[in-house]
Amino acid sequence: MTPPVADRRPLIGIVGSGIAGLRAANAILKCKVDARIVVFGDETHRTYNRPGLTKKRYPLSDALEMAIAEDVKVNGVENDALTWRLGTRVETADLRDRVLHLSTGETFEYDGLVIAAGVRPRTSVWGNGECELHTHRTLRGLGDARYIHHRLQASEKVTIVGAGFVACELASLAKEYGCEVLMLEALRRGPFESILGERVSMALGRWLVQHGITFLTGDSARELLCDVKPSDPEPPSDRSLFIEAIGSVPNVEWLHGNGLDLSDGVRVDEYMRVSPWENVFAAGDIARYPDPWTAGNLTRMEFWKNAIDTGDLAGRSLASSLGYGSVTSRIGYFPSMSTEVLGLRIQIAGNPKMSDSMEIVRGDLDQLDQGVLVAYLREGSMVGAAYLDKGARFNSAYIKLLKSLRER
Ligand SMILES: Cc1cc2nc3c(=O)[nH]c(=O)nc-3n(C[C@H](O)[C@H](O)[C@H](O)COP(=O)(O)OP(=O)(O)OC[C@H]3O[C@@H](n4cnc5c(N)ncnc54)[C@H](O)[C@@H]3O)c2cc1C
Repeated sequence: MTPPVADRRPLIGIVGSGIAGLRAANAILKCKVDARIVVFGDETHRTYNRPGLTKKRYPLSDALEMAIAEDVKVNGVENDALTWRLGTRVETADLRDRVLHLSTGETFEYDGLVIAAGVRPRTSVWGNGECELHTHRTLRGLGDARYIHHRLQASEKVTIVGAGFVACELASLAKEYGCEVLMLEALRRGPFESILGERVSMALGRWLVQHGITFLTGDSARELLCDVKPSDPEPPSDRSLFIEAIGSVPNVEWLHGNGLDLSDGVRVDEYMRVSPWENVFAAGDIARYPDPWTAGNLTRMEFWKNAIDTGDLAGRSLASSLGYGSVTSRIGYFPSMSTEVLGLRIQIAGNPKMSDSMEIVRGDLDQLDQGVLVAYLREGSMVGAAYLDKGARFNSAYIKLLKSLRER
């Protein structure tokens, strides 16, 4: 599908039609690059609000999918220079010869490439299949969300494996639909432990229980997982909706054979460039980059805002590699995200994962609904902050913390 010789504008390929790919395309167009951009996406829908898949209930109607599939609009991408190849998977890439091999059997020769292929849910041995007791499901895309919302609408008993963001949001959603919820977390003591640490995590575990969720950890959880034979299995019909939200795996397989470091996503430099290729960049959930907040430790973030910021930067860097402007700024922001679990708003900024200690700045972990503000420190200086509250009691103190984080 390489264009006729008459059109020799540079060709840019973007692999992934999620928010990182969309923002990269937008940034390239903003730099006024005289190029043709082709976005390849193996999903059949244009960029949609992925975090929205778990944020609220949808009406009981056929409009469910339409409601969930709200397009993300970004000014400036309704442009003739941009072509969407949806339902088209990039099977392999040859970075030396600058060619992509597509699921349609075609090839695509590019002058610049953005890798924005995201991640997929990690699955247990059962995958999205059936064990003796349940059908196992995961949630990443629209199709998964449509299925899960329909099932939750029937107010089923639901089992959720894991206690990360997606698991907690699903539990919260299931409660709103009126379901009976069992959560199983075999490896950690509570939600978000690997990010927010043990004390906050255990307080969040208590929050789940206070709000009517049966939350089992450790051996009690392990006994009910399907790779261990349960001693007293429930009949399959009783707990038929079994959702696994146990982490994710970067979509890197199509890049094998190019000598890249793919050990945890795609490794990039501070401009999102995939070394040693001058014309290849990566962004979003898939990119592992040097974290400016922790002296260049490599980090990979699975947050919406991170995908926006790194997508923008990858697009500007690619434009610059084609001679359009120069990229002066590197990754300069700190990541942030927010979520709501059973009425509790959780905001996280910076990189608490990198901390070696924590300090409760305001509030009490036994009274989360009254607000708790936490600072995360590494060698005495702040690397992250978290604010948990039902209202906005400590908002100005949180903003102050963010300011000092920014000024580090
Ligand atoms: C249920 C859910 C709730 C979330 N809630 C929040 C939240 O509250 N706050 C927050 O900050 N973040 C949240 N996130 C995370 C956020 O959605 C991601 O960080 C963001 O979507 C990442 O964007 P991306 O463009 O990097 O990847 P993706 O959105 O995954 O897009 C990548 C696209 O590339 C496609 N693709 C993969 N391989 C190929 C290939 N070989 N060829 C063609 N296409 C390919 C994929 O199918 C996908 O469509 C949530 C995620 C989920 C699943």
